[in-house]
Amino acid sequence: MADTEFSLIYQQIAPCAGVRDDVLLGIGDDAAIVQPTTGQSIVVALDTLVSGRHFFPTCAPEDIAWKALAVNLSDLAAMGAVPKWALLSLSLPLENAQKGWIKRFMAGWQGLAQQYAVALIGGDTTRADQLAVSVTLIGEVSPGSAIQRSGAMPGDEIWLSGTIGDAGLALAQRYANQAVDDAVAMRLDRPTPRVNLGFSLRNLATAAIDISDGFLADLGHILKASGNLGARVEVDAMPFSPMVDAWQRQMSPLLPLTSGDDYELLFTAPIALHNRLNALSEELSVALTCVGRVLPSDQGMQLIKNGELLVIPQRQGFDHFASPAIMKTS
Ligand code: ADP
Ligand code: MG
Repeated sequence: MADTEFSLIYQQIAPCAGVRDDVLLGIGDDAAIVQPTTGQSIVVALDTLVSGRHFFPTCAPEDIAWKALAVNLSDLAAMGAVPKWALLSLSLPLENAQKGWIKRFMAGWQGLAQQYAVALIGGDTTRADQLAVSVTLIGEVSPGSAIQRSGAMPGDEIWLSGTIGDAGLALAQRYANQAVDDAVAMRLDRPTPRVNLGFSLRNLATAAIDISDGFLADLGHILKASGNLGARVEVDAMPFSPMVDAWQRQMSPLLPLTSGDDYELLFTAPIALHNRLNALSEELSVALTCVGRVLPSDQGMQLIKNGELLVIPQRQGFDHFASPAIMKTS
């Protein structure tokens, strides 16, 4: 039996909202009221996940909630912001508007929201033909210290956190109906947003982006926003997990560079900060790998493997309208 909208909101969602002192009025009125920290700038992002496009219809409700919040946390991380308040829009087919499903969904939400003390301050719940989850995440950053895509400079080093390609491998295995190893499945279903890293990169990184579409596409976004700069990327330096390494050896080294959904941070920084970034990697226990250099604007993108130039693939990452109608997960 589906529940009423009222009981879903007040019995299933609101009790899992989380508490923050700066929430003056949370779920229950026409709008929420929050008290920003004096002098801070507000940073806002919104990302939507649609069933069948961003996740398999069979995906666990806990994972859908986790990912819907994680992709937004990742966006704020890429800005160097501190996440604080979230709004949740649920478009639910009847079978999802049930206590059991919402309860599991909210358990997944809480699992991640509590890690970063994010409070759910409101949202909207509506019936729909297709399950869709949309999250608006609001955070704060000191004025002028947000990391933008547009700040890369020729000569900067290009850095990556963690490993890339794991989510892409999991997706490829699921499509092929192969067994998906737990470690890569987790990277697809429950990505780890690099919130603390992003915060620490303020005043270090010249530009940053989180990898959702694919390394090449997202690097392209930084280069374009920074004035059509070029880049030289050492494919042999790319951080791959052992499983992704085996995959790319068997298939193509370009697969993990274009598969996306990694939610790692890709950033540029002056070469003088190289050792400082290695120290930060130790401090935060997050792998940071230097994978290339930013070049002046007439140099284009150069992918180097074994000392030779690779042909840049046409498809550098996912585009909802340009890509074939296959599922992507972000
Ligand atoms: P209204 O008709 O004024 O938009 P709603 O019935 O949509 O009010 O919402 C009532 C309250 O419940 C509001 O505070 C709203 O923010 C909150 N709310 C509704 N849906 C959700 C949701 N999915 N997650 C969090 N809060 C929600
Ligand atoms: Mg409403």
